[in-house]
Amino acid sequence: MSTDPQQIYVTQPYLPPLDEFIPYLEKIWESRQLTNNGPFHQQLEQALGEYLGVEHIALFTNGTIALITALQSLRITGEVITTPYSFVATSHALLWNGIKPVFVDIERDTFNLDPAKIEAAITPQTTAIMPVHCYGRSCDVAAIQAIADHYNLKVIYDAAHAFGVRDAGGSILRHGDLSVLSFHATKVFNTFEGGAIVCPDARTKLRIDHLKNFGFANETSVVAPGINGKMSEVNAAFGLLQLKHVDRALARRRIVDETYREHLRGVKGIRCAQVDRVNHSNHAYFPILVEAGYSMSRDDLFQKLKDNGIHPRRYFYPLITDFPMYRGLPSAHPDRLPVAIDAANRILCLPIFPDLDTAQIGTISRLIAG
Ligand SMILES: *Cc1c(COP(=O)(O)O)cnc(C)c1O
Repeated sequence: MSTDPQQIYVTQPYLPPLDEFIPYLEKIWESRQLTNNGPFHQQLEQALGEYLGVEHIALFTNGTIALITALQSLRITGEVITTPYSFVATSHALLWNGIKPVFVDIERDTFNLDPAKIEAAITPQTTAIMPVHCYGRSCDVAAIQAIADHYNLKVIYDAAHAFGVRDAGGSILRHGDLSVLSFHATKVFNTFEGGAIVCPDARTKLRIDHLKNFGFANETSVVAPGINGKMSEVNAAFGLLQLKHVDRALARRRIVDETYREHLRGVKGIRCAQVDRVNHSNHAYFPILVEAGYSMSRDDLFQKLKDNGIHPRRYFYPLITDFPMYRGLPSAHPDRLPVAIDAANRILCLPIFPDLDTAQIGTISRLIAG
């Protein structure tokens, strides 16, 4: 991630004023507790649980280790059904556990795993489904849960994009067996690096807490081959400060989203991904689709914007199934993933972050319209 101020990148981490962070650092220096479930770590788990509306949350050093640990905590093995239309960490977490990913195509409008195509991919080895709430848009959680219940499968949501997203019943993080968040610098809520697992009960959280600390259950007993996935006090403190500002940041993102939609309405061949009416969205991304009726190809538009100092991203192109460690799998065959391939070829995620101002949105929109 570059930070050249002349350039506009797809996102810019939201940083509260530095002087607000100093008192947190002073406390860490005073206490000398730098990590291992320190006071800021405990406070952040509590505060995030309240903010997100979930009861049990375990903080992690990053979202990828959280995904790997989530699979371990439920002892997932064999095959797991997942989406090719995601960041590569989703399926890497499976490979790190010796699990075979089985890719299933996505829905055209939500970019999420298509429940209608899941059953055909289930085999006797299937133990779980790992969908992604892509761009923070909720998966069809009811349909996925119905399949999981029928075939006795676990559901682990990669909710890295879904911080603060709610549906009619509350946080979307309450669905499935586990949900995994990322607090990476590029995400809506960040702790520089960080992540978390949301789980339904205290017993599961205890197992997760052991796994993220080498498997230690107490000073002298190690109950599992755990990893080091702990979040440090500096990261947790930054999260607490960030949380104070997150509502303002989300409100700004909403305005950016609305402003783009106004500017781009009527531009022939450009389709803004539909507003998700089921969700209270977090506006983490602003995906547009460059359709056949547009004056140039998606990649030419991508290049034109870059030439003008605007750096959108083609999330998610290439698809996970295009990478060498996946493309040999039968489920990675292009014939089986027409919707994901089409989306990957048309998608462009425009810059969106709290400090993107109206003039900049106008500039970006005019380059696209003109
Ligand atoms: C960011 C992201 C991850 C990985 O999270 P890190 O905190 O960067 O390890 C996993 N899945 C998706 C969909 C992501 O966007």
